[in-house]
Amino acid sequence: MYCAASRGLKMRFAKIQNTIIFFAVFCIISRECFGALVVEEKCLCPVCDKEIAVLGVVSFGSYVYEYESKYDLIFFPYDDPGFIWMCPHCGYAQAAKYFTVLSQKEKNRLKDFLSAKWKPASPNDISIKGPNDVSAIETRFNQAILVNKFLEKDDNFWAWFNRVLIFHYRKIDTEKAKTLAIVERELLQKNKGEFESPKKQRAYLLGEYNRLIGDNKLAQKYFYQALEADAVSEIRTLNTVLVVINFALFVLLLVLWISRGLKKETRIVCTIGGIIIFVLCSFSLYMMPKIIPHYENMNNYHNEIIYDRIKLLNTQPE
Ligand SMILES: [Zn+2]
Repeated sequence: MYCAASRGLKMRFAKIQNTIIFFAVFCIISRECFGALVVEEKCLCPVCDKEIAVLGVVSFGSYVYEYESKYDLIFFPYDDPGFIWMCPHCGYAQAAKYFTVLSQKEKNRLKDFLSAKWKPASPNDISIKGPNDVSAIETRFNQAILVNKFLEKDDNFWAWFNRVLIFHYRKIDTEKAKTLAIVERELLQKNKGEFESPKKQRAYLLGEYNRLIGDNKLAQKYFYQALEADAVSEIRTLNTVLVVINFALFVLLLVLWISRGLKKETRIVCTIGGIIIFVLCSFSLYMMPKIIPHYENMNNYHNEIIYDRIKLLNTQPE
C-alpha cells in the first residue's frame, strides 16, 4: 500500500519536474523568460525564394509598452533588431511587417540590384548572437537601408524606420544615433510620420531628438508644447464639429422637405438623406463617451513619457 502511494507520488513529481524542464528549455530557445515570447520560424525569401530562418512572435502583453523603446515611440517587436529580417543568400533585408510587401517588378529589380552588392553568406554570419553582436546587427541595418533607398520609400516610412535605427544605435553607436536624430528632426518638422496624436507625438519627438542632439533649450520648448497638446480636446472638438455639420445639413434637408412645390423624386432624396444624417449624428453621439476614455489613457501614457524625459533633461549638461 505504502509502496504504491510512494510510487504514485514519485511519478507525479517526475511529471512536474519534466514540465519545469520543458518550460525552462522553451524559454531558453525562445530567448526571453516571463517577457514577450519570440521564436525562430521559417519563411521563404520573397526575392530569391529560398527558405530562411526569421523571428516570429508567440505572445506578448501590455507590458511591452513600458519597454525602453517607448521613448522613441517604437514598440515591440521592433525593439529587437532580429525583427529586421534578412536573407543570407541574396542580402534582402527589411522590417518584418514590410518583408513580403513587394511587387513582382520590385522583386526582379531587387534581385539584380542585390546580386551586385551582396555575396551569399551562411545563416550563421547574419544571426544576431546577443545585444553586443554589433557586426550582425549593423549588417542587417545597412542592407535594410540599402533596400529601402532602392525602393524609394516615402518620408512617412523613413520617419518610422529612422526611429527604429535611432533606438538601436543609442546603445551601439551614439554618434550615429545623433546623425540619424538630425535627419528625423527635419522629417518631423515637415510634418512627416504617421501618429495617433500627431500634434502631441511630433512635439514630444522633436523634444527628445533635440535633447539627444544636445540642444537642451529647444528640447524643453518642445516637451512643454507636447504637454500642452491635448489629444482628448482635439478629438472632442472634431466630434462636435461633425455633429454641428450633420445637424445643419439635417435642418437644410428638413426645410427643403417641407417647402411646397417640391418634386416627388427630390422629396425622396431629401428623406433618404435626412435619415442617413440622423443615423450618423446619433452614432457619433453614441460613440463619443466610448472613444474619449481611450484618448484620455493615451494622453496620460504620453504625458508620463514626456515627464520622464523632462526629468532627464534637467540632469543633462548643456
Ligand atoms: Zn533571398
